[in-house]
Amino acid sequence: MAVVETRRLTKIFRKADQGAAVNEVDLATRDGEFLVFLGPSGSGKSTLLRMIAGLEEPTRGDVLIGGRVVTGLPPRARGIAMVFQSYALYPHLSVEQNIGFPLKAHGVPRDRRRERVRWAAELLGIGHLLARKPRELSGGERQRVALARALVREPTVFLLDEPLSNLDAKLRASARTELIQFHARVGTTTIYVTHDQVEAMSMGDRIVVLDKGVVRQVGTPKEVYDEPADTFVATFLGSPP
Ligand code: ADP
Ligand code: MG
Repeated sequence: MAVVETRRLTKIFRKADQGAAVNEVDLATRDGEFLVFLGPSGSGKSTLLRMIAGLEEPTRGDVLIGGRVVTGLPPRARGIAMVFQSYALYPHLSVEQNIGFPLKAHGVPRDRRRERVRWAAELLGIGHLLARKPRELSGGERQRVALARALVREPTVFLLDEPLSNLDAKLRASARTELIQFHARVGTTTIYVTHDQVEAMSMGDRIVVLDKGVVRQVGTPKEVYDEPADTFVATFLGSPP
């Protein structure tokens, strides 16, 4: 059974619009995979992810998580965790309190909270930073705090929307590697949104190529590069003719 499945998932923002932002998308994740949504700006990647998360209501179609239809359910009832491009840490709270915030909000007792926070922080290599405030961290460290905060409730699926785009090029390259190593350790099914072909090719177990709200191709990096389904995919990925 797929952790995340979409059935003819569609979003039309305005009736007057020419097309749908997301158009009849059928997808199913494989257990534990790192799935990438790749497409140019405006191709519907964020809208698709936000519908899976429950942050956007579909116009039509369904979202299933763990085989259960969750269309219409609020985000907190879906067992998902999402990290955005503009992740916000609470500036007045310590790293430990930031990571533990979702647990506190769910009434998890203090001792248990401390244990979970340490586990998540160790996994992301920030166990030594728990007493610091966000302003005392580098960009890459802040990013890891945001990931630890998303991880702390042990979500069944991770949704990441261009989480590295605020980092400079050098940091982004190392953060990619870290994210992949982290994924290999926790094995949580992950959907990762990017407009960057290099990022998609180097990170994805499989890539979903989107254009104007439509899935053009789904395949391994090698499949989509070597055997692009159409000229859009070939051009976008720079496949040899
Ligand atoms: P991507 O993440 O791939 O850049 P988006 O999902 O953000 O693409 O946007 C897909 C399309 O939907 C774009 O044409 C965008 O302008 C439109 N869109 C996104 N969010 C809204 C919104 N809240 N209201 C109206 N149109 C939107
Ligand atoms: Mg986007």
